[in-house]
Amino acid sequence: MGDPYFPKLGNGGYDVSHYGLTLDYEPDSGRLKGEAVITARATQELSAFHLDLAGLKPDKVTVGGKGARFNTVGRELVVRPPDDLDKGETFRTTVRYSGTPQTITDPDGSEEGWLRTADGGAVALGEPTGSMAWFPGNHHPSDKAAYDIEVTVPKGLKAVSNGELKGTRETKSGGGGRRTTFRWHSAEPMASYLATVAIGPYETKTWKTKSGLPIYTAVSVSEAAEGTEGTEGTEGTEDSAGALAQIPDIIAWQERRFGPYPFSSVGAIVVGEDDAGYALETQTKPVFPGVPDTELMVHEFAHQWFGNSVSPKTWQDMWLNEGFATYAEWLWAEDRGGDSAQETFDAVYAGGEGSGGVWAFPPAKPPGPDRVFDTPVYVRGAMVLHKVRQVVGDDAFFRILRGWPSTYRHANADTDDFIAYVEKQAGDKGGDKGGDEGGDLDAVWDAWLRGEGKPKQP
Ligand SMILES: [Zn+2]
Repeated sequence: MGDPYFPKLGNGGYDVSHYGLTLDYEPDSGRLKGEAVITARATQELSAFHLDLAGLKPDKVTVGGKGARFNTVGRELVVRPPDDLDKGETFRTTVRYSGTPQTITDPDGSEEGWLRTADGGAVALGEPTGSMAWFPGNHHPSDKAAYDIEVTVPKGLKAVSNGELKGTRETKSGGGGRRTTFRWHSAEPMASYLATVAIGPYETKTWKTKSGLPIYTAVSVSEAAEGTEGTEGTEGTEDSAGALAQIPDIIAWQERRFGPYPFSSVGAIVVGEDDAGYALETQTKPVFPGVPDTELMVHEFAHQWFGNSVSPKTWQDMWLNEGFATYAEWLWAEDRGGDSAQETFDAVYAGGEGSGGVWAFPPAKPPGPDRVFDTPVYVRGAMVLHKVRQVVGDDAFFRILRGWPSTYRHANADTDDFIAYVEKQAGDKGGDKGGDEGGDLDAVWDAWLRGEGKPKQP
């Protein structure tokens, strides 16, 4: 894929439309048996192609139902189909694989991939490279696909994944133990880094948002995830059930600000607070370590529009994910009687809370893969959006906030797409200040988005 920050991620030559994953996990041993059925279209003639897979052993590979030759080189599974694939041909690859899925340490030191949890289960987190630890695929955000994920675990445990639960069934394993299979379906396209599976003793709950969207939440039955009994339904609640009760409010507010929710369900997975070093916006069900606070939920749910529906073309475009999600937190405070976004911006500019390292590099140009998730990408990314708001005025800005995720719904976009979109909106509609004749937007891009150092304020 030639990603500027993670050049080995993803593979050219084909485009995946669907993953069918059948997984069987044994928590005691940590062993995973899997089958991935990958439906893809060749974008060029192919005599061989690569899939990303790390730490698991491919046992058998077929293409179009016929045995294929394969070998692994590092984190690449190289497949040679028995017949060459024509450009434009849709083909189905089945990979049977097994092993003990591993935790991957990122360039920035954070852990992802397959994480064993304190409750005896596991959770899969994939940003940016971790999904290859549990299934073979084209693991780059530019190749999005629909998913069906089926997970079998010992009876008594639950397996939670993206999308909607289509059914469960019980079986007996060879050893005589009872097992439960959970079938999850994600119809809308998903970048593979947003795929997740969480296995463990979960308390689950289903209900609906105000607009009728199904909600499915899962909280690990461990003190570290459930929290202490708090006052339910209020901000600052100390138990997960109380925190998650805010989902309908948060989604209703986001639908007003960002337009229709882009997926057919919403939810959350709460693991123990030491099980993951961070929260992640896994599609339709963000993963939270411990009781999530309101701002964090606002952030991860905002990603459903910004990052999950509109996905980055490369990891260089991460500020489009994190800048919007951070700005969502600022807007939430503004709309709820807290600090206005201007006040938050001013406080960061003045060196207040959360501003440490914010001028280290421009958000559109992180200096390396270890810095793609650093403060400038989040906070200075949000500052870029606030500068746009100052230039185009509130009416045009809030049109952009709804129009951008609608225009690029379920697609990929990069920084140039965003600049072009904003300039078109400012020019066509004429912002409150009469469009951008003075080139004020150029100044925002030059100084705030791409310029080194702390920009000067007029
Ligand atoms: Zn984020």
